Amino acid sequence: MRNKKERNSETAKMKTSRYLVSLLFLLFPLSQSSALAADSLKLQEVTDDVYAIVGDLGNRAAENLGNNATFGFIVTSAGVVLIDSGGTYKGAREIHRLIKGVTDQPITTVINTGGQDHRWLGNGYFKEQGAKIVASRKAVEDQKARAQDQFIMLGNLVGDEGVKGTIAVYAEQMFDDKLSFELGGVIFELSHSGQAHTPGDSFVWLPQKSVMFTGDIVYTQRMPGVGSQSNSKSWIEVYKSMAAYKPEHIVPGHGQVTDLATANADTYDYLVFLRKSVSSFMEDGGDIVDIGSVDQSNFHYLLNHETLAGRNAQQVFIELEWE
Ligand SMILES: [Zn+2]
Repeated sequence: MRNKKERNSETAKMKTSRYLVSLLFLLFPLSQSSALAADSLKLQEVTDDVYAIVGDLGNRAAENLGNNATFGFIVTSAGVVLIDSGGTYKGAREIHRLIKGVTDQPITTVINTGGQDHRWLGNGYFKEQGAKIVASRKAVEDQKARAQDQFIMLGNLVGDEGVKGTIAVYAEQMFDDKLSFELGGVIFELSHSGQAHTPGDSFVWLPQKSVMFTGDIVYTQRMPGVGSQSNSKSWIEVYKSMAAYKPEHIVPGHGQVTDLATANADTYDYLVFLRKSVSSFMEDGGDIVDIGSVDQSNFHYLLNHETLAGRNAQQVFIELEWE
């Protein structure tokens, strides 16, 4: 859990940023404010007709409309497939704005790679555009279980104005472990191989392009978050099943487009290290109240380590007690 001081300082930051955003709404017409939100998303070309949309590496905030993650899309001759719909209705509209800068093709399919807010709470917007939404059955179960908590959290971090219009819309097509389809000559292979950062995480493989969209299974540049919805042991196995495809390009769930070596270093190595360190801490008779003493400095190059490292160790401690 975060301590009170951190929460207070986050609340103070939140208030300041909310104040600034309100001020901007007063000073500038709407188009200016939209430009501000769009600026937090960066378009990256992965390979022919495949793109990533890279959002903020920090937390959800009014400025990013809950889009603090990486998304992706594939342009085919029969329409666009979007990987993850963003954290809010307005956030989804910003994602669409970037896509419209690349192609006039409609978005026919949206894949939710997991149950975390930024993977699916933009579904309502894309459903209005006529898209079909696809997700693993476990992801939809997770979304249903956590929707209310996610709305409360987004209200606190993004604010009511940013969340406006967002409703819970669930996938109409679900799969248990595998689903393949073809659109405009492009083959998509979806796999859910177990719980990772969230219970229903899945990855999306484009065999013809050697591109892997990993959702929250891979984080780069920032520290992965192991929460109560995660399972670090199974996450490592899921990671291995993804890595077995030996993708040339990886579009992670958080961070810029990357390669397998970087994904290994920033996610796989970290998870293995964390479990090993916490496990030896426990073998030495360490108590959970001293969990902060587990040295994670080798991974301090990853953003957000100040807020996540201790919490991750604590979560793994709890997991290991039950294994
Ligand atoms: Zn995420």
